[in-house]
Amino acid sequence: MHSTIVKTDALVLKSLKYGDTSKIVTFYTKEFGKLTAMAKGVRKTSAKYGTALEPLSVVSLVLYHKNSREIQLVSECSTMRRFTALTEQFDVLTAALTLVELVYKTSHEEKNETLFHLLLGILEKLNSHPNSSPTLLLWFHFQLAEQLGFGFQLETCPLCRRPIQESSYRSHNPFVELARGGILCATCSSVDRPLQQLNRETLSLLRALLESDVHSATAISISASEHKELKILLHNYFRFHIEGWKPLKSERIFSAMAQ
Ligand SMILES: [Zn+2]
Repeated sequence: MHSTIVKTDALVLKSLKYGDTSKIVTFYTKEFGKLTAMAKGVRKTSAKYGTALEPLSVVSLVLYHKNSREIQLVSECSTMRRFTALTEQFDVLTAALTLVELVYKTSHEEKNETLFHLLLGILEKLNSHPNSSPTLLLWFHFQLAEQLGFGFQLETCPLCRRPIQESSYRSHNPFVELARGGILCATCSSVDRPLQQLNRETLSLLRALLESDVHSATAISISASEHKELKILLHNYFRFHIEGWKPLKSERIFSAMAQ
């Protein structure tokens, strides 16, 4: 079968040198989801694509595309958007690289326009609101889980289907149910279980995060201990739902720097 020429907007997730002059680049594309393509000879003339093949570039991509092929071929690639402010602060850049790595590791080779727009939207927001990067990163994890088919919900108890009400947890902290992505109601949480617990106070914060869009998420303030608690929850949640899940490289670097 012959290859067809296709055009799509894309975000560069990862870029590797290949041979003496080429690069192998993984994109998250609007039309095909995650896609890997070879850019031949691009390192011979350094100015050919400029920074278009570097991670975090939003590009207009033309490809020779063949369904039967794992690695496609880049025909043309031009930069549409660079998030220049992202590179100015180390922790913001780390947040951006973490979410790009997260998408690289978890997304599939199938079209998901919602995820494509989520990704561009959060990078745009990180670029304009660098101080909100810890909150935005938490927010994005929940959004991504939803797109990958294991969204977290706080509507009803996964065991008994009663509605979840923050005010009903008087003497017990709520338990987290990883398999079905929710928290147990006050009644089900009153029985001892071998499950992670969440502080009652963190529950309304979690609800605010889940109900926010990328704009309102920046207004949510999260304390260091709440942030830690939600990070542990997300780590366990992703580990439960994604085979071979490990802490991300960019996150490990960030934690090491923060100590
Ligand atoms: Zn229940």
